[in-house]
Amino acid sequence: MKNIQVIAFDADDTLWVNEPYFREAEDKFCALLQDYLPMHSTASELFKVEIRNLSLYGYGIKGFMLSMIETIAVVTENTASMAVVNKAIEFGKELLNKPVELLPGVEEVLQNLKGDYRLVVATKGDLLDQERKLQKSGLEKYFHHIEIMSDKKEKDYLKLLKHLDCQPQDFLMIGNSLKSDILPVLQLGGHAVHVPYHITWEHETIENNVEHENFATAETITDILSLLKP
Ligand SMILES: [Mg+2]
Repeated sequence: MKNIQVIAFDADDTLWVNEPYFREAEDKFCALLQDYLPMHSTASELFKVEIRNLSLYGYGIKGFMLSMIETIAVVTENTASMAVVNKAIEFGKELLNKPVELLPGVEEVLQNLKGDYRLVVATKGDLLDQERKLQKSGLEKYFHHIEIMSDKKEKDYLKLLKHLDCQPQDFLMIGNSLKSDILPVLQLGGHAVHVPYHITWEHETIENNVEHENFATAETITDILSLLKP
């Protein structure tokens, strides 16, 4: 990782807590429909609906809310009252108002790297929601550019690299999702460091181990510093 010029950070579960909030909302949602279906069955119905809707709604809380409503219709066979629907909307709004909790070491790492690299945020999710989180995080001052992406496939990273006028070999992506943050970047010839988070959305997990000369795993985000400045 000698010639790195741009370091891009994933946001959710890399810079700040995200997935635990979704799990909490999901649990409340499944409990809401307990009279109709056991909680784990509602969870798998919801997951199916979410995946089916991804290409229409993209990632983020608003899509999650619409998928909850659709799942209510499926699970209750269209018999649920508006009160149940309102509850789901409430769970979504609670998510949109969650505090932004930085993960340990994040600010220290950004402070340390800021002078030496161009730092970027590369995240999926709803535009307004991610902007809100960035602002609440107090981290905006560290970043040269914020990219809120509809997806994190190779073509999306190519667009980002072009925008940044950066060659893949000069680019390092750091994130918690092997599927979205690591594999597409390696595929393009970039560098990637995986910083695992203790829970990951099922959709973001992959079966295989990653082995690649441009790839490393860091136990915590702070370990990035010793990888970059050995
Ligand atoms: Mg993430």
